Amino acid sequence: MLIIGSHVNFREDQLLGSVKDIIKYGGNTFMFYTGAPQNSIRRALDDSLTIKAYHLMKEHNILLDKVVCHAPYVINLANNSDPLKYRFSQDFLRKEIDRCILLGVKYLVLHPGSAVKCEKNAALYNIIKGLNRVLASDDNIIILLETMAGKGTELGINIEELKTIIDNITYQDKIGVCLDTCHLNDSGIDINNFDLYLDQFEDKIGLDKIKCIHINDSKNEVGMHKDRHANLGFGTIGFDALIDVIYNERLSGIPKILETPYVDDMPPYKYEIAMIKNKKFNPNLIDEIIERM
Ligand code: FE
Ligand code: FE
Ligand code: ZN
Repeated sequence: MLIIGSHVNFREDQLLGSVKDIIKYGGNTFMFYTGAPQNSIRRALDDSLTIKAYHLMKEHNILLDKVVCHAPYVINLANNSDPLKYRFSQDFLRKEIDRCILLGVKYLVLHPGSAVKCEKNAALYNIIKGLNRVLASDDNIIILLETMAGKGTELGINIEELKTIIDNITYQDKIGVCLDTCHLNDSGIDINNFDLYLDQFEDKIGLDKIKCIHINDSKNEVGMHKDRHANLGFGTIGFDALIDVIYNERLSGIPKILETPYVDDMPPYKYEIAMIKNKKFNPNLIDEIIERM
């Protein structure tokens, strides 16, 4: 079954608002941040809104166990050159895990981190140490390390780095991977030859570790290490290659999440999800979104 959704808001209405958004877009799963991704200000969770969200999800066949939360960008477990910031990252990740558990959301996507001034292997070890400190044996959560583009000193930019982290996590049932097609493209992977990448992933890590896929086109050519998302079919990866990823049988049942850019301040997800369901590219998509405003 196709599990498709997009990034949605999580504001005053919290999870209920997120569900309302994805129903408007025609998806059956979604991804949210529990607050602004670039700061640590968080509103207390309101259980009555969560329960209302569950009811609405049930009505619309949205499965809670496919819903994904994204950890804030301010968390960086890779760099310990400032001990206070390294500690803050661990504490804040712990709080985000607790919020996910309260919401009943099982998947938490995390950018592995940026080494900044640390040596690469030391930085990978910092990530491992940080995750092992934060995760507890009875947590009902799976941290999904996102594949990164290789911008600046980012880590998690190839299968080997992800494998190093995963192999050293104490609770193996609490660690997984979130692929991002734009990031993979920018890191040097040809999305048009995706089965080759999956073969390598299967060989070194195992496909069972892939729990989420971010579906984005890219504004840059393969291997440019940029990380700039494009709307589906309007980038260098192209619509057909992305459709092949979305409908790849080896990835069926895994939630696919759009993080494509807004068009003139309008979320494009309703239109992109429609294109995905029809498997047909609409070259006038962006013009049509602007016209409907
Ligand atoms: Fe991300
Ligand atoms: Fe992503
Ligand atoms: Zn990105």
